[in-house]
Amino acid sequence: MRAAAVLVVGSELVTGVRLDTNSTEVTAALLAAGFAPDEVVARPDDEAAIAETVRRLVDTHDLVVVTGGLGPTHDDVTREAVSRALGLPLVPDPRLAERLTQVARRHRDPEAAAQVVRQADVLEGARVLEPATGTAPGQVVSGPWGHVVLLPGPPHEMRPMLESFLGTVRVGVAPRFVRCVGISESDVQVTAQRLLDAYAGIGFTVLASPALVDAVLFDAGAGGEVLDRAAAEIASALAEDCYSTDGSTLAETVIALARDARCSVAVAESCTGGLLGGALTEVPGASDVFCGGIVSYADDVKTSVLGVPPGTLQDHGAVSAETAAAMAEGVRERLGADLAVAVTGIAGPGGGTPSKPVGTVWFAVADADESSATLRHLFGDRDGIRTRAVVTALDLLRREIGGRAR
Ligand code: AMP
Ligand code: MG
Repeated sequence: MRAAAVLVVGSELVTGVRLDTNSTEVTAALLAAGFAPDEVVARPDDEAAIAETVRRLVDTHDLVVVTGGLGPTHDDVTREAVSRALGLPLVPDPRLAERLTQVARRHRDPEAAAQVVRQADVLEGARVLEPATGTAPGQVVSGPWGHVVLLPGPPHEMRPMLESFLGTVRVGVAPRFVRCVGISESDVQVTAQRLLDAYAGIGFTVLASPALVDAVLFDAGAGGEVLDRAAAEIASALAEDCYSTDGSTLAETVIALARDARCSVAVAESCTGGLLGGALTEVPGASDVFCGGIVSYADDVKTSVLGVPPGTLQDHGAVSAETAAAMAEGVRERLGADLAVAVTGIAGPGGGTPSKPVGTVWFAVADADESSATLRHLFGDRDGIRTRAVVTALDLLRREIGGRAR
């Protein structure tokens, strides 16, 4: 596999002012395109530091992707730094210069206008990646030593250019992801490893995120078809704990299953405060099946909006099987959905009791005939518990809808 490195540029990224999301997006896309990313570096907006890093990365990698520092302002020095590192002069690209001159007319100050036009400077011999949005173009310089790709910092500008570049240089077989939920990292690893012992030429790793586990198979000579066969075998051994082998997220899987089953879905949330509805609506086309959700954080709202009987709250508490079931039934009926899921729990750090410690979360799934409640003791800090609660609720929906389809 071809070695690849990612350099993210921006003083805001090395001081914690902004979160670097580009590096994970770029490395994931490089991996999917068959490259082997093995180094991620962040550098401030410092021409000498960027140049020094580019020189080193180019020596040791076939592909170096640099994001950020391509804008018009004084601190955007990536072009100059790479020019210095590769010994390639910057020359204005006539087409870009013309387009950017039009853009520059919108600026009031002549100095601001001149800055915009500076973005037409490209490294000698570079291929220009036209921006789909924004003004900063990307560029690719290729030589016998490999490629250096410069991409703008804003993720929505970076993404389409990266895809367009990778479309031209895809070098190998993408890894296959066997995605699992409701099972431990070690169980996934042991099950997969036993099956993989019968194969040669497959690299294997297990990646866990809160409540989710991915078994990742890499091509190490086996080829795409063998990778598919091994992934299918592992998925079948993991049975219902595997939710996708095509890269779909858990929420995407739930939406697709609901669409196939023509089953509309509603949610009632307490401790997740809308994150569950948020996760479902992150999926494009969710409106085909997702009716909506009610965030019933206060007991009053559980009663007045969802119709949870005050006696249920008094006798069993807001975090109980009975309340969860009444929330699910209430939201299903009020929003006219086929199926509903409810979440109510103690995300902490306060609010726990000996009988209901922090992490106690009740879930309930209701259809027109019945509801059933499930208790989970989730671990982590507030954020971790809420994330795990969203995953658990999505998984309960998935298992319920999947069970109906069988
Ligand atoms: P720049 O291309 O350096 O002018 O970047 C413009 C904006 O893009 C920055 O202010 C950030 O908001 C965003 N940005 C730059 N680099 C990254 C990165 N690595 N991850 C996420 N956002 C970024
Ligand atoms: Mg910047």
